[in-house]
Amino acid sequence: MANLILDEHDQNFVLFEMLEIDKLCELERYTDFSKDMFEMILTEAQKFAVEEIFPTLAESDKEGCRLEGGQVHVPKCFHRPFKLFCEAGWNCMSFPAEHGGQGLPFIMRIAAHDWYMQNFAFASYPGLGEGAAHLIETYGSQEQKEKYLPKMISGKWGGSMALTEPGAGTDVGNLSTKAIRQPDGTFKLQGTKIFITGGDQDLTENIIHPVLARIEGDPAGTKGISIFIVPKFLVNEDGSLGRRNDFEIAKIEEKMGIHGSSTCLMNFGDNNNCYGELMGAEREGMKVMFQMMNEARIATGLQGLSSASVAYLHALNYSKQRLQGASLLEFKNPDAPRVPIIQHPDVRRMLLWMKSNVEGMRALMYYATTCGDKAASIKDPVEAEKWLGIVEVLTPVIKAYCTDIGFRVTETAMQCYGGYGYCSEYPIEQFMRDEKIASIYEGSNGIQALDLVGRKMGMKKGAYFMTLLGEMGATVAKCRTIETLKVLAEDVQAGINALAEIAMFFASCGKAGKFLIPVGNAYPFLMMMGKIVCAWLLLWEAQIAQERLTAVCSAKGVNAADPIALAPFVKENKDAAFYDGKLKSARYFIKNVLPEIDGTVKSIKSEDLSMMEIAEESFAS
Ligand SMILES: Cc1cc2nc3c(=O)[nH]c(=O)nc-3n(C[C@H](O)[C@H](O)[C@H](O)COP(=O)(O)OP(=O)(O)OC[C@H]3O[C@@H](n4cnc5c(N)ncnc54)[C@H](O)[C@@H]3O)c2cc1C
Repeated sequence: MANLILDEHDQNFVLFEMLEIDKLCELERYTDFSKDMFEMILTEAQKFAVEEIFPTLAESDKEGCRLEGGQVHVPKCFHRPFKLFCEAGWNCMSFPAEHGGQGLPFIMRIAAHDWYMQNFAFASYPGLGEGAAHLIETYGSQEQKEKYLPKMISGKWGGSMALTEPGAGTDVGNLSTKAIRQPDGTFKLQGTKIFITGGDQDLTENIIHPVLARIEGDPAGTKGISIFIVPKFLVNEDGSLGRRNDFEIAKIEEKMGIHGSSTCLMNFGDNNNCYGELMGAEREGMKVMFQMMNEARIATGLQGLSSASVAYLHALNYSKQRLQGASLLEFKNPDAPRVPIIQHPDVRRMLLWMKSNVEGMRALMYYATTCGDKAASIKDPVEAEKWLGIVEVLTPVIKAYCTDIGFRVTETAMQCYGGYGYCSEYPIEQFMRDEKIASIYEGSNGIQALDLVGRKMGMKKGAYFMTLLGEMGATVAKCRTIETLKVLAEDVQAGINALAEIAMFFASCGKAGKFLIPVGNAYPFLMMMGKIVCAWLLLWEAQIAQERLTAVCSAKGVNAADPIALAPFVKENKDAAFYDGKLKSARYFIKNVLPEIDGTVKSIKSEDLSMMEIAEESFAS
């Protein structure tokens, strides 16, 4: 294994053999690009991750962030990679060229960042700058674009997203930060924000904070929220930096993980002089911020995938080296040689569970992102809407499923390490600590489930959801005709039927006034949907892998359908090993993980509402 971050063969397989992203270059928007360029970018991303970013993971965890004299200092080891990161343009890959970006399809940004996101503490800084700049690009006035974008895109200035307050976490509409209108059309802000990632740092000379606040007199709730650009240093007419804005970093949080990421408590306007500029229209702050929140949800799902990927590859490497116990076949022989733990069935089960989950999540992440690129670039409005609809439905699944399963993969990786995994001498415990937060922020996973069931599934009267089921069904139809895959295809079809069945069941509950059933079961349903979607995508991968394996074998005169001939060939031929591994991943997932949905279907359809019926006094005596 060349690196322990990401299996580049898997990445290339999903991007080029499965999703054929090079075909995006046929669209007018991407004609400047080619497959060769995409491959070169990914080679560079790997090199940069291996040489510059991954090595800072452990060091930044130990050093953490410091608040001194009102200024946050991030780990020293972040400074060099951050500078190189921005110089190389990794922070603005998908920005339009006219604003200084590279105009690449978003899938290339996601695939490159798949190399970086396990070091989320580092990646959060350029990521937030990018997200804030994208907000200004979409919703800012021409003047704001000219004033802020060039420096943000070059990475000279950073960004954040400031929503959360002590009484307004999930319930953002309850925020109390206020904006007081000034005669010159600007605003003065007053209030407190908590948990703001990158609320301050010393990587960039200025930080542009998009801050949610309510203009005095505007209505309560989300409808009364506006969004403001609040720079750390005000920007003079000539572009130079002016006075320090009136907000302070009161503290940085002590956290379980991502110690290199500064999580700030920010007090705005203690001296009644916190300058803010309205972005977009008044009272449209939530609509504006949703763009950044949706991007952040995808990025957080990517954090889950990347954490799972790095943890799995480390566990695999360890399992090949760690000697413990004798082979099962020699269990009665006390003198039998000790074997690497990868030979034990239970360790192989954990490894294949992790492999199939990582591959399923990567396919899900890259598939949805490619749909997004098609939605943004295809001129035919009907087709563009088809891809957009799939992205809408899959966004909460990506965020919640990839972060929860990502965490479970890091936990399973620790299990493979045994006691050493629990000790800080090995990196696994950090992967696990760093990943846990991903299920909590950017809208907790329970909230993602409510978004899926309460909003996304019913969009366009359910048409978006049905489109996704249609795409899944098309793969099944193909695989039914392939001898080695037809049984798996039937299993996936049963999963698709179950999805449709529960969707109808929820709709009928809604009509009958039993809305607590879909609400109370939204999270199990989301996880069930994640499993079915991943099973579908792994089946799709298996269909391609089967074709490729047959071709690789026949080129060498090996019969791919004969397991006795195939086994030794797989050991000596890397491509055969890869494609056969894909077939095993799909089979394992469909035969061992997918059946878990039967229990979920049964429990949802039981209409049990004990969670609502139990009195609060009865939870504990
Ligand atoms: C390390 C870190 C970094 C962060 N970075 C940022 C940032 O950069 N910007 C920013 O604005 N915020 C940030 N946050 C805040 C984060 O988004 C919130 O913590 C999160 O939205 C949850 O809010 P809360 O902590 O107040 O929990 P609560 O809202 O109190 O939720 C607690 C639990 O109750 C559940 N719950 C709450 N309301 C409902 C409901 N209506 N229905 C069902 N379940 C519900 C939640 O799902 C959760 O499980 C960060 C937090 C942390 C810890």
